Amino acid sequence: MADGFCSGCGRPSASCAGCSPALDPPRFCTTCGKRLTVHITPAGFTSRCRRCASSSPRV
Ligand SMILES: [Zn+2]
Ligand SMILES: [Zn+2]
Repeated sequence: MADGFCSGCGRPSASCAGCSPALDPPRFCTTCGKRLTVHITPAGFTSRCRRCASSSPRV
């Protein structure tokens, strides 16, 4: 799925189809390409973009 930016390196998805392993938390916002704030929790992790103010929890 191409949302705009790679969650692994923050480059446009046109340049990178996704280099982040499936089990790794996303490190860059797929909407704006900025770094995410990643919180590790016992249940998994949540990544939040401070610019978009949107959270994208994934397990
Ligand atoms: Zn990448
Ligand atoms: Zn964002």
